[in-house]
Amino acid sequence: MRVSSRFAALSAFVLSAGPWAAGSDLGRALDTLSGERVLDHIKVLASDAFEGRGPGTPGEQKTVAYLVDQFRAAGLKPGNPDGTYLQDVPLVGFQATKTAGSIRFGDAHGKEIPLRSSAEWVGVSRRFRAETKVEGSDVVFVGHGVVAPDYGWDDYKGVDVRGKTVVMLINDPAVPDPADPSMLDPAKFGGKAMTYYGRWTYKYEIASEKGAAACLIVHEAGPAGYPWPVVVGSWGRENFDLPAPDDNAARVGVEAWIALDTAKAICSAAGRDFGALQAAARRPDFRPIALGAKADFAISNAVREIDSKNVVARLEGSDPALRGEHVVYTAHWDHLGRDPALPGDQIFNGAADNASGTAALLEIAHAHGELPKAPRRSILFLAVTAEEKGLLGAKYYAEHPLYPLSTTLADINMDVINLWGRTRDIVSVGLGNTTLDDTLAAVAATQGRTIGGDPEPEKGSFYRSDHFEFAKQGVPALNAKAGIDYVGKPEGYGRARRDEYTQKDYHKPSDEVKPDWDLAGAVEDMRLLMSVGHDVAQGTGQPEWKPGSEFKARREAMLKGQGARP
Ligand SMILES: [Zn+2]
Repeated sequence: MRVSSRFAALSAFVLSAGPWAAGSDLGRALDTLSGERVLDHIKVLASDAFEGRGPGTPGEQKTVAYLVDQFRAAGLKPGNPDGTYLQDVPLVGFQATKTAGSIRFGDAHGKEIPLRSSAEWVGVSRRFRAETKVEGSDVVFVGHGVVAPDYGWDDYKGVDVRGKTVVMLINDPAVPDPADPSMLDPAKFGGKAMTYYGRWTYKYEIASEKGAAACLIVHEAGPAGYPWPVVVGSWGRENFDLPAPDDNAARVGVEAWIALDTAKAICSAAGRDFGALQAAARRPDFRPIALGAKADFAISNAVREIDSKNVVARLEGSDPALRGEHVVYTAHWDHLGRDPALPGDQIFNGAADNASGTAALLEIAHAHGELPKAPRRSILFLAVTAEEKGLLGAKYYAEHPLYPLSTTLADINMDVINLWGRTRDIVSVGLGNTTLDDTLAAVAATQGRTIGGDPEPEKGSFYRSDHFEFAKQGVPALNAKAGIDYVGKPEGYGRARRDEYTQKDYHKPSDEVKPDWDLAGAVEDMRLLMSVGHDVAQGTGQPEWKPGSEFKARREAMLKGQGARP
């Protein structure tokens, strides 16, 4: 982390009248931040009575009512200019009621790889219609399915895939570094870090643009960042999208994942070696490879419209000239609901993900209510819906902001907080993207703590939570996560706990409140995030994207008044 002049200026500010001075207004408000209250909120939100907080379910009604009550009790005003704490978010729910697919080789007597059970594949159609069929579509392997002019990369090489079934690898190409082939080339797709080109959202988008009939992503646990059951858990159930004028008729008809074994079976039936295809896909001269097979798919959809809600509260700024400008805190209130098809525990309680972040949002809101005088700019507390369905509540807000994004100075997002005790560090996912990191580092230093980058950049976490929708539109965004260097614990403890969570509890019914949780670290993290927001709300400068950030141009265009929409 570069020590900037801003760092020095802020440190001086901190030591004199600033955030940490004992007895200052902010200092007193920070002292009210309570781990017990956070845990109490988590216990309510993650209780079985809230049914896993699925959008459009009775669990949503309970969650929304609870959040509104808590914001009101904290003394915060309705965040919607219409005088309510709610923003309506229209969603379309679609569930594949019947999915069938097969990959055929040769004539009618040739080999066939059926796609039936969820051990083999999961597929959906995002077209809002009862039935989508694909018949006799040529199957083409397109590497990672990436078209990235910024990296001089094009996996399609102009090959016409209209009406075809494209098969591709997850993540972005792992290009060896020419200087040291044992390492990844840092100049290609962020080296080890996953760029947006590696995300499944991108892959279905580009396949749609190319006019493909079906898109199959090969699942691999490492490059995807999560194991196969997570894919099945999310995709095998009802999915959601924002309404589209054409009912998504222009989308690729079938959006599917295939298990690694299925991919290998398809390859061997095609007389190809999967490892050889992977190796070919790492080369910039890769060209699409026809697999000599035809694909058939039939997907029946049950489609319904759902009214969901973002919940939003506001602390109006004390400076009449600046109160039209906002700092936004976000956390997604939703989780995966319940699945009646599951044996045993059917409720995805989502205690860590993201009852914990929502609870922290409520607690930071509560502490703002303790300030005798509001900061100069306004603060917005936004609990968004349908993050688990593709960041939809945040996307809807960013496309329909209640206050202009050009005067929204920052989004500070919380998605799964530190539940395992105090740390000497805090993680900023996407470290170095914005000047908010400098502020975070400066305030962390006053706690004797440091900030670090994402310990798992290969998972592409910056693109996987709500702040990304703000970033996409240009708003400087900070997504802080638990540090990994735990106080009083052996080395490796943080990573071990995180890996255990990913393996055992992430997006599973077992993500419940655990008896050994320790919110002491979360309290310190909340102090940091509240202080960073306060600095922005009080300060004279605006947070900025740093040079080299993929979002900088968007912000500059927005501030020049060239519009906030893509
Ligand atoms: Zn989450």
